[in-house]
Amino acid sequence: MSVIGIDFGNEGCYVAAARSGGIETLANDYSLRATPSFVAFDGKKRIIGVAAKNQQVTNMKNTVGGFKRLLGRKFNDPHVQHELKSIPARVEARGDGSIGIKVNYLGEDQHFGPEQLTAMLFTKLKETSAAAMQTQVNDCVIACPVFFTNAERRALLDAAQIAGLNVLRLMNETTATALAYGFYKNDLFEDKPRNVIFVDFGHSSLQASACAFTKGKLKMLASTWDQIGGRDIDLALGDYFAKEFQERYKINAKTNARANLRLLTEIEKLKKQMSANSTKLPLNIECFLDDIDVSSSMQRSQMEELCAPVLQRVEQTFKRLLAESKLQLDDIHSVEIVGGSSRIPSVKQLIEQVFNKPASTTLNQDEAVSRGAALQCAIMSPAVRVREFGVTDLQNYAVKVLWDSEGSAAPGEIEIFPQYHASPFSRLLTINRKGPFNVSIVYGQQVPYPDQTIGVWKVKDVKPTERGEGQDVKLKVRINNNGIVLISSATLVEKKEAEEAAAAAEQAASEEKAGEQANNAGEPTDGQQEGADKKKKASKATELPLECTTHGFSPVDLGNYTQQESKMIGNDQKETERIDAKNALEEFVYDMRNKLQGGPLERFIVEAEREAIVAQLNDLENWLYEDGEDCERETYTNRLQALHQKTDPIKLRASDYEQGPAAFDELKNTI
Ligand code: ATP
Ligand code: MG
Repeated sequence: MSVIGIDFGNEGCYVAAARSGGIETLANDYSLRATPSFVAFDGKKRIIGVAAKNQQVTNMKNTVGGFKRLLGRKFNDPHVQHELKSIPARVEARGDGSIGIKVNYLGEDQHFGPEQLTAMLFTKLKETSAAAMQTQVNDCVIACPVFFTNAERRALLDAAQIAGLNVLRLMNETTATALAYGFYKNDLFEDKPRNVIFVDFGHSSLQASACAFTKGKLKMLASTWDQIGGRDIDLALGDYFAKEFQERYKINAKTNARANLRLLTEIEKLKKQMSANSTKLPLNIECFLDDIDVSSSMQRSQMEELCAPVLQRVEQTFKRLLAESKLQLDDIHSVEIVGGSSRIPSVKQLIEQVFNKPASTTLNQDEAVSRGAALQCAIMSPAVRVREFGVTDLQNYAVKVLWDSEGSAAPGEIEIFPQYHASPFSRLLTINRKGPFNVSIVYGQQVPYPDQTIGVWKVKDVKPTERGEGQDVKLKVRINNNGIVLISSATLVEKKEAEEAAAAAEQAASEEKAGEQANNAGEPTDGQQEGADKKKKASKATELPLECTTHGFSPVDLGNYTQQESKMIGNDQKETERIDAKNALEEFVYDMRNKLQGGPLERFIVEAEREAIVAQLNDLENWLYEDGEDCERETYTNRLQALHQKTDPIKLRASDYEQGPAAFDELKNTI
């Protein structure tokens, strides 16, 4: 059983595995550590990761990337509409308003949602890990952006479940980075926190977090973010070059999706070179449009001018973090950078300007998130033994609880968790009621999602006392390990024994939280918080049934999608076996022909028979390129078997001969 951490990036994924010897980033089927977040389809199979990205230009409509930012959203969400501008595949609204990405797969048009595409990518990562580690992979920790809301987190969990992954925790990306940093530091103190800023500037997002490390523990203090990334820089440069080519060559790259993609690919390469080089660098594309070769150049200072609006937002995000973390410049130990776009020199300069510290690259910029996630998985899983390291994450947005009115009792609301509250965490909330009621959990501030609601819970079976009075209902409002806020239990506390029963409810809550408390050790506690005094148990606390409406797939949909994924995995496997059988036959044809014609088997067969076999091999080769190009696996294996029957005796004679000329002499008389 192995333990992995997944960094699911908008552009690429990394998987790290925890073994007893340490953390290792795993290589995929192309011996690369980065697996592009792309899924493609053709008439026979799915193509995922490196192979998908490689064939994007020739199969644009059926190649999908950029789906991380579509998770848990509806088609008409303005954010989705904005994202779709950079996704060349066809995308439609499905009956329920969800996003349907239309691709031609197995010869017909089919729709897949972003959660399904993510699940496909996870399937690939799971296979990669299983192959690299030679063992089944189930338990994992997946990193997600700190700004992901309830809908996006649930969608990510659904995707993981469809792919058969058991997620021990969804961990904020910068928190994973912080763990990768702190876990190996042995110069942390009990009483004097070391405050480190982590900046992750990736493909589609910028995240900056402040973290306080003490011995064996980390606590996230604040996080700021913006939905800008390397792709926005590429787009700004794209606009510039497209305009230049329009003027110089009279061609419009924007009208041709393929040309636009090629341009952006070349720009990305140029951008990376500009990070290391401040001189003028060339950009050349042959046969760009209408058979015209284009060429231009750019230097870093020019790029910085073109990207000034992006860099301004980067600066603002850093400044906001400084303000929101309430850290003084002198309190900051260092600023660690990760994410591909943090290699841009002007971003490093902004870090130095705002935080008054040079950007530090202690961590592997590409792999830190996955390594931190793998460490967290190892800490949580019994499969690998590592030392403890307490991680107190944060809830990025303020959360409110609202309940409806009853008779003369007015509706109520309370901010149950302020922004940046510790996570995981639970609080108890008491509401006096005579009958069933509804409780909503909503975000208490603007969030990057069209709907502020986290969920609505119906608290059932609430009854008045015999005298017709209301009774206390204790709700346990919880931020779980995945950063998802929910009502995890409701308990009716009967009036006459209210005090005793309340203690019981709190005890039950604190017992349930036992696993989380290690992470919250040292947290201040208040009356409603878990970990309150343990008193003797009373029998009059009754658990109430809850009915919840929140984001995410229904169990039925989840079951269907899981089944569909298994079917597609089966189909891919069948297709791989078919291709393998075809390749095996082709390889045998070439190999045997070489061995029979001037090769080591030539002298072990009479000439007429050899010519007949070679002719048969030639026919087979032609067949493989014509009628036999696309047959069932059995057709190839049957032909290979027939060939073996013909040629195995020749090989046998050869090997007998090698064992001793005497044996051959005997055989020679028989042929
Ligand atoms: P996200 O975190 O936004 O979901 P991601 O994790 O896939 O996305 P990263 O792999 O951290 O993103 O970064 C990819 C981005 O970094 C791309 O836009 C890429 O062009 C950019 N990048 C990589 N190397 C360099 C470099 N040397 N200079 C400038 N940009 C770079
Ligand atoms: Mg990333």
